Amino acid sequence: MIIDGKKISEEILEKIKLKVLSIKKNRNIVPGLAVIMVGDDPASRIYVNNKKKACSKVGVYSREYFLPGGISEEDLLKLISELNRDQNIHGILVQLPLPSHINENAVIEAICPEKDVDCFHPFNMGKLLTGNANILPCTPAGIIAALEHEKIDISSKHCVVVGRSNIVGKPISLLLLQKNATVTICHSKTLNLEDVCRRADILICAVGKANFISKEMVKNNAVVIDVGINRLPNGKICGDVDFDNVKFIASYITPVPGGVGPLTVSMLINNVLECFGKLVEKI
Ligand code: NDP
Repeated sequence: MIIDGKKISEEILEKIKLKVLSIKKNRNIVPGLAVIMVGDDPASRIYVNNKKKACSKVGVYSREYFLPGGISEEDLLKLISELNRDQNIHGILVQLPLPSHINENAVIEAICPEKDVDCFHPFNMGKLLTGNANILPCTPAGIIAALEHEKIDISSKHCVVVGRSNIVGKPISLLLLQKNATVTICHSKTLNLEDVCRRADILICAVGKANFISKEMVKNNAVVIDVGINRLPNGKICGDVDFDNVKFIASYITPVPGGVGPLTVSMLINNVLECFGKLVEKI
């Protein structure tokens, strides 16, 4: 069974649209998102445009900043500080990666945690780690939304996560653990990766290498979630999983494109509303 991330995402966005309408009607205000992109990486530009499109679809106000790759860290931090104070902006997102002369951690930490829609700030990561999350990181939240939508049980399942990044691997492992899975986290130094993956009831791959997960690495009837986004020499986008072969073995599988990607975007918009709700409550 192929998990249609696009369709699930549209259902989520439809619910968000109704919430935005009711906020507008009752409070005469709309939630707002600022997206900052530094440099002109074509993939990042596509992601930023997708986020903008999703905002306009549901009536969330969005403002994009396309900054030159040579911008100084100081100027970028100044802009973030202005946005932290901007009453029309409830979520701030800095599209990663940043050019090497800018300290990514300093930028992430400059965003006030209440407007940190990506959940990258150490404060929000800490809350997530202790099981008191204010907000959930978008891609991991999208994965959980997909599993829940398909009514796939997580509790007591053996979940293998390949990849240990702060953006995907670590936080999805925490969320699965909080849902009572037994979690194994793999990375580039893991030995016998094939054997470990083959023991997974739910296999999540976030590596960034095309066709990295072969059918030999997947147990019969496993659930396979492909987070990877890779561009092939012919320009096509594919995931980390050898989809054409693994789909015959897996009970559920996410395609790329049309799987985790759209879910990540809808979770981001959901986070804008979450941040808006908390900020407005505070006033
Ligand atoms: P990172 O590059 O930060 O992390 C990649 C991880 O893969 C690392 O932990 C690395 O291990 C591990 N890895 C690399 N080679 C191997 C190997 N041979 N065996 C086992 N593990 C390996 O990537 P991200 O987590 O940021 O992203 C992963 C992929 O997901 C990318 O393709 C990215 O584009 C995509 N992505 C998709 C999103 C979506 O919305 N669908 C959102 C975010 C990312 P080590 O730590 O040891 O180096």
